[in-house]
Amino acid sequence: MANELVIEVKALRKSYGSMAAVDGVDLEMARGEILALLGPNGAGKTTTVEILEGYRKRDSGRARVLGEDPQHAGADWRARRGIVLQSSDDVADLTVAECVRHFSLFYPKPADPDEVIDRVGLSAKRKAPIRSLSGGQRRRLDVALGIVGNPELVFLDEPTTGFDPEARRAFWELVKDLAKEGASVLLTTHYLEEAEALADRVAVIQAGKVVASGPPSELGGRRHAPAKVTWLGTNGPETVETLEPTALVCSLYETFHGEVPGLTVTRPSLEDIYLKMIGTMEKE
Ligand code: ATP
Repeated sequence: MANELVIEVKALRKSYGSMAAVDGVDLEMARGEILALLGPNGAGKTTTVEILEGYRKRDSGRARVLGEDPQHAGADWRARRGIVLQSSDDVADLTVAECVRHFSLFYPKPADPDEVIDRVGLSAKRKAPIRSLSGGQRRRLDVALGIVGNPELVFLDEPTTGFDPEARRAFWELVKDLAKEGASVLLTTHYLEEAEALADRVAVIQAGKVVASGPPSELGGRRHAPAKVTWLGTNGPETVETLEPTALVCSLYETFHGEVPGLTVTRPSLEDIYLKMIGTMEKE
């Protein structure tokens, strides 16, 4: 169904003692979407995600995940979502293949365990005991366990921490493929380039509230922010910030009678915009 919401959250609240960890979060996510939750340490992202996963009770507010209240949903609902948990030591004696096969048995319509192992790039470690895996390989196994049930909705809490750059790129491709196949993905990350590469939309959580949301290319008015134009002038590198970079580049083209040496035109990165946003709010 087009525009079907897989997550609907309204005025969600959760306190630990007197501290409001989630303080009125509103959030929606459509089927097939990749949504990244961004926010500083302690902002309330994990608490929000745990409520949506069904692992934590909310104090108040409305939460619907795959059409059900996660606090009261049953085993059928649990089989429809995949969670990439932080590594546990319980399975350390099993091999990679044994572990993925074992977890696949919990689901009514699992993916082929061998295919899942290939997809996360652990084929060479199929027969290796889990205790012998490196940190990044272990994290890939966590991802395999999160997707072996063929979930409709995948929760990824800081999934690529400890990955080398190549593994991170491979993981991004995997997440994009899952979304192409119809899965919805809710991701928390501190890597802004990860949000930029993957997310259709980002939501910034600060002090328990969603303070901004939108496509990564548009967050905080990014698309309309001044562009930085740099080039190699006759006296060395030159930089100008302008709202009309096209006009400047045209005039440079005329000045140089053609190709402008060392020309770059950049807008602020998602990280620039995010840090400015968070910094401004912290001062308020
Ligand atoms: P991070 O980016 O560091 O993972 P986060 O945005 O996921 O942070 P949460 O883990 O949701 O933040 O924590 C929100 C606030 O709630 C923090 O101040 C944290 O100390 C507090 N908190 C989280 N879990 C508990 C708990 N079980 N008991 C008491 N306080 C908690």
